[in-house]
Amino acid sequence: MTNDELWQAVLGEIELTLSKPNFNTWFKNTFISSCDTKQEEIVIGVPNAFTQTWLQTKYHKAILIAFKNITDDKAKKIVYVVETTRPLTSETSKPVSEAAPSPKVQKDLQRIGLNQKYTFKNFIVGKNNELAHAACQSVAKNPGKKYNPLFIYGGVGLGKTHMIQAIGHAVLANSKDVKIRYITSEQFISDYVQSVRSGRGKDFQKTYRNVDVLLIDDVQFIAGKDRTQEEFFHTFNTLHQKDSKLVFTADRPPTAIPGLEERLSSRFSWGMIADVAPPDLETRIAILKTKARERNFQLDDESIQYLAVTFQRNIRELESALNKIIAHWELYNKKITPDIVKEIVSNLSSQTKRGIITAKQLIKIVADFYELKIEDLTQGGRRKELALPRQIAMFLLREELECSYPMIGTEFGGRDHTTAMHACKKITKEVDSHGRIKQEIDMLRERMYNG
Ligand code: ADP
Ligand code: MG
Repeated sequence: MTNDELWQAVLGEIELTLSKPNFNTWFKNTFISSCDTKQEEIVIGVPNAFTQTWLQTKYHKAILIAFKNITDDKAKKIVYVVETTRPLTSETSKPVSEAAPSPKVQKDLQRIGLNQKYTFKNFIVGKNNELAHAACQSVAKNPGKKYNPLFIYGGVGLGKTHMIQAIGHAVLANSKDVKIRYITSEQFISDYVQSVRSGRGKDFQKTYRNVDVLLIDDVQFIAGKDRTQEEFFHTFNTLHQKDSKLVFTADRPPTAIPGLEERLSSRFSWGMIADVAPPDLETRIAILKTKARERNFQLDDESIQYLAVTFQRNIRELESALNKIIAHWELYNKKITPDIVKEIVSNLSSQTKRGIITAKQLIKIVADFYELKIEDLTQGGRRKELALPRQIAMFLLREELECSYPMIGTEFGGRDHTTAMHACKKITKEVDSHGRIKQEIDMLRERMYNG
């Protein structure tokens, strides 16, 4: 077995136990750098120190077990090395210091485009955003080329804007002379269009190509805007060449943004890509408790639990439910009980309660959509009219509910996990080619989340 084959076999085992974003994040660009002939000591090459730390602290056991399984128990020692000559110790993250904003600083913030609410200090770190958060902190405190650009992606209301702005705050707190600019891609587009219209293209270039840190939020909106993409491309190149820091957020990874020029999506992938996932229950509870404390508001555990269970996929909605409850409390000056909380929540629109969907419900939605019986979808044979919807359902279970492959297999009449893997791969390809299947999937998502 070559090193490559050995590593592929190990990855095959590990992939089964991880969510897709995690697997991609941590195992992309890893390889066996060396392996002694007895297969006892194996050195894994990793692209950066983040990955090194994570593999070491979170996945070492799984990696070792997989190696042992595949090498007949020969593997004894696994070491992770970064493929770079830089010393790695500088990377262990210390929290970045932040000062409370003075009036002068507040003015600066306004000019730069930052909201003073969004700092690292009031950002709760959980498993869902650990990587993105660490990458942001690293960018904020380390000058130089590391993770340039940093690209953060994830669904709505998961803290992307908060994090990208926190970078701006931290850089500013450490040095007043750094030129920072935070902007949404929509503002970038409209600035550009305006400047062209009024014949001030040069001014536009001067503004954007002269910064040390450029933070562009929701960059997916430049997709399909040809002239802006052209300008953006040159802005990117100029800034990247002089090691200005570039940070972007988007609702999905660069290669999955329809209408985004290839040369841009490849540039977005030059540095570090980190995803943010919906927070787990523990993190949601921590966020609620912190936000309540910030407002000097006390909420009992049952109510907190209820809110955290109800709002699973969007922190903005979790926060806005809490705000409604606080408003109620301030207005009526009455102790908030779990019953009151439930009543307030039940008055919020069903749109805000999206995300509470089980695997069974998802399968039913797909079956309904294709007018199939649930049993046919889950248990039926390989006929094409069943196979494709089944693959789509598997893909959605993986993408939307982060089910493991074996779990998906079980949902579909005890099929093998490789069937689920194959289905996800196939449908991902289809989605990327933007055909009919992509549209169907968009419609299914719409049904899942908007009833
Ligand atoms: P996105 O840009 O991903 O849509 P935002 O950054 O606007 O999401 O976050 C939505 C709201 O949730 C903001 O008020 C933000 O402060 C809050 N929020 C999100 N994630 C966290 C977190 N981990 N800790 C504290 N607040 C958070
Ligand atoms: Mg945002």
